[in-house]
Amino acid sequence: MKRKVVIATQNKGKAKEFESLFSSFNFEVVTLLDLPEAIDIVEDGSTFEENATIKSETIANKFDCIAIGDDSGLIVDFLNGKPGIYSARYAGEEKNDEANLQKVLHELEGVPSEERTARFYCALAFSAPGIKTKTVSGTCEGKILTEKRGSEGFGYDPIFYVEDLGKSLAELSKEEKNQISHRGNAIKKLAAVIDEWMEEVKNHENRDC
Ligand code: IMP
Repeated sequence: MKRKVVIATQNKGKAKEFESLFSSFNFEVVTLLDLPEAIDIVEDGSTFEENATIKSETIANKFDCIAIGDDSGLIVDFLNGKPGIYSARYAGEEKNDEANLQKVLHELEGVPSEERTARFYCALAFSAPGIKTKTVSGTCEGKILTEKRGSEGFGYDPIFYVEDLGKSLAELSKEEKNQISHRGNAIKKLAAVIDEWMEEVKNHENRDC
């Protein structure tokens, strides 16, 4: 039977991004939706890394498996880093993308272009029973537009402008976004260390005790 890597998300799209990473290890990549019971994970960390770690350790310990947790959000310099770890519920309600981005636009009203710098940030945590959790992170630099542009993507994508491409993230296809996104960049960093981390898991499992 194939062993499982659990991606601590309910989002199948996110899990797909990890599938090719684990393909050479003959692991089955599953999400929280595939687990036998629903789990409520309280993300009460104070950084993206802490929240990603809470997710990966909860799953790894409960199901005795390898788990990856992710946490991401938007950091706006003029707002001293907000919405940050509160990105999903910045306007109050959980996951109201439109209200969240309107709140950011409102808070930046009249702010000149050079002060509208921002970045998306993604932390990934890798956990397995008996080994110390490890994290990597990725960013995507840009500026906050004064109005929405494009209809792809989700969240703050329509107001996030990537200067090198001359487009908002919502004007990119999924593939184009993956090439440059904070999550794509974090996954590239994970890919660079995954062999080493999987070796550590294997050594731990084979150790004499
Ligand atoms: P989560 O880490 O998937 O829970 O994302 C937290 C929140 O950050 C989302 O609800 C979005 O508001 C925002 N966010 C994270 N990644 C992106 C992205 O790639 N585009 C737009 N918004 C994002």
